[in-house]
Amino acid sequence: MKTVTILIPAYNEAEVLHQLYNRLTFVLQKISFYQFEILFVNDGSKDATLEIIKNLREMDGRISYIDFSRNFGKEIAMIAGLDYVKGDAVIILDADLQDPPELIPEMIRYWEEGYDDIYAKRRTRSGETMFKKWTAKTFYKILKKVARIPIQENTGDFRLLDKRCVEALKKLRESQRYTKGMFSWIGYNKKEILFDRDSRAAGVSKWNYLKLMDLAIEGITSFTTAPLRLSVILGSIVSMWAFIYMAWIIFKTLLFGESIAGYPSLMTVMLFLGGIQLLSLGIIGEYLGRVFNETKRRPLYFVDEYNGQKESNSSTNK
Ligand code: UDP
Ligand code: MG
Repeated sequence: MKTVTILIPAYNEAEVLHQLYNRLTFVLQKISFYQFEILFVNDGSKDATLEIIKNLREMDGRISYIDFSRNFGKEIAMIAGLDYVKGDAVIILDADLQDPPELIPEMIRYWEEGYDDIYAKRRTRSGETMFKKWTAKTFYKILKKVARIPIQENTGDFRLLDKRCVEALKKLRESQRYTKGMFSWIGYNKKEILFDRDSRAAGVSKWNYLKLMDLAIEGITSFTTAPLRLSVILGSIVSMWAFIYMAWIIFKTLLFGESIAGYPSLMTVMLFLGGIQLLSLGIIGEYLGRVFNETKRRPLYFVDEYNGQKESNSSTNK
């Protein structure tokens, strides 16, 4: 019998866990011929999330959990989950029921047909403001243009991954992770299914615009060096014009002399060049920061306990 692992990163999700468990098990009991493992990653929650998971585990042997030593963020929670997965396939599911578990049977069906990565694409996004929808759309547009890999728009992490994809993802150990890009980057047979994304069942989203902006910069800088290229191009164009202008000024001064004037033009040129220099420095700094972080080669996470056992973490960074 094949095993399918449902991987659920959870950070302060106490309010929804029971509801999630009920809805998930209702779906799972209708699927026969598969064994299921429900793997929670407790990402340093400060509420009762861990206790609830432990209680659920006592009732239901299919549940296992990883408890992080602190909050590491969803991207890290996902790779940790993948490290511990036992199944032949894994389904990554948000704890807040924004990803309907009802899609699981369809995902498994396509998996049986031979697809390796069946991802759920949002037809609609309810409970999100116009502004968030617009920013998300623009971001994807830019990312697709600059990072030469096809990144699936309006797709979250909700997907079924075959063991092969899991093994591939486990090889990508960078610490600043943009998992959504990695799903595309590893390739394999992809299949899209559509769904309507609900608003979260309870609790609040952990995202804010600062974090989203962070993720956007992460996405771009981890998949393309195009911004560096851009600063080279911008720099060459600007310095070309600067040289022409310089030649013109020298020529003009030699022929006609110079009465003191030209404060506005001086100021404009200075500010413009200064701006471009700062921008380019910022871009270089962004990449340098990534290099710095990756060269430290730290383990991606530390596990406090796994299924009730204290972890020594000697095997972290698998
Ligand atoms: N999450 C996590 N660690 C974090 C933040 C979020 O494991 O630091 C989990 C969270 O519990 C949920 C999923 O990631 O299962 C998505 O989080 P959220 O609903 O806040 O994001 P949104 O749906 O608004 O993008
Ligand atoms: Mg959510």
